Amino acid sequence: MSRFALSILVPLALCAAALPPARSAERIVEYVDAHWFDGERFVHGSRRVVDGRFVGKDGAEAPSERVDLRGGFVVPPFGEAHNHNLQNAWGLERNRAMYLREGVFYAAMLCGDATSNAGVRAGLRPAGDVRVALTACISSADGHPLGMALASLREEDPDADATAVHDHAYVVVESEADVAAKWPLVRAARPDLVKLTLVHSEDPARREDPRYHGFNGLRPELVAPLVARAHADGLRVAAHTESAADFAVAVAAGVDIVAHLPGYAFARGKGPDDYRLSDEAIAEAARRGVTVVPTASVASFIARDPDAISDVLALQRENLRRLKEAGVPLAMGSDRFTATSLVEYEHLAGTGLFAPEELLRMLSMTTPQLIFPDDGVGCLEPGCRADFLVLDRDPLADAAAVRGVRARVMGGLHLDPDDAAME
Ligand SMILES: [Zn+2]
Repeated sequence: MSRFALSILVPLALCAAALPPARSAERIVEYVDAHWFDGERFVHGSRRVVDGRFVGKDGAEAPSERVDLRGGFVVPPFGEAHNHNLQNAWGLERNRAMYLREGVFYAAMLCGDATSNAGVRAGLRPAGDVRVALTACISSADGHPLGMALASLREEDPDADATAVHDHAYVVVESEADVAAKWPLVRAARPDLVKLTLVHSEDPARREDPRYHGFNGLRPELVAPLVARAHADGLRVAAHTESAADFAVAVAAGVDIVAHLPGYAFARGKGPDDYRLSDEAIAEAARRGVTVVPTASVASFIARDPDAISDVLALQRENLRRLKEAGVPLAMGSDRFTATSLVEYEHLAGTGLFAPEELLRMLSMTTPQLIFPDDGVGCLEPGCRADFLVLDRDPLADAAAVRGVRARVMGGLHLDPDDAAME
């Protein structure tokens, strides 16, 4: 007897064993008794999946299988819009199970080069794995991430110098002529995104100060030519920004994503006025549809001094409130080693600025759609990929429910996070 004649109720926990691995276009799976997130609220009902996509019910044949979700709360899998955990083959092996276990299926890694990106691509499984957007990273000769890269290289080789980093770990651009001359290095990384680093670009004196060597960024006048070059290749641009001036430079130059909300820490000699976004820059970000990835939780992670952190958090809250009021889209990224965007979700929940449905929408819809805008992710409607999580409890009633992932489905197939194998 064909399995299509069967109509069975299968608890999802048993799926790995109970569901056949068929990918036939005729396999119609109906997921019943669940609450489905529509971006505002949960609606009880059932949904159908054919060939890895949600489908409507009009005119459809009877389902070949039914899967009982037992009153669970279904959300699109989560996105992580700023991290480095999966940006080389070693990190992918080490961290993929954490991402899948936490339900973070889509992640943007915001630095990379030809070698590291090729390693990640080779390590990713063709199905049932975390989906990663990879980046080519551009900064100045004395810019971030040189300082971090050198510190790590010198653990192995005390004599390592910048030549091991320049045009390897990131592409160095110091002049407009470099934009064209270095572009083959960007293309060699086969990036999904380009990241530009700005660090107090309003303060060129930093570049003369040896304490900041390796922690600076691009000259501000190079940002617009770099954005134009990337856009000509169809690549979106994310900017690492640290000051309010950097934010304004990035937005005016046409970047697509601001990858840090300025002011997650105050640099030496700087105060809130250096990090308070201008009304003009916020309005321009709203007008251009720039998405801001605040990485706000970085503030608590790197804070050393309890007084400084209270000023940082107060300013962060003010900037976030003004961005939200202006309608600037916000997405979630943690930029935290050994963590995912769930820590950012928790930090943003703690600001009290966002309704539960806004936070859940950011985590499960805005962020996945920012990372993979053309792939039908971040939604549970007909035509969307059948990627979803089943939560035990209602995350609109208790934010902690996002950590209670009962089951994971990717492309219509049950996923086991610990071996990342399908069914
Ligand atoms: Zn980062």
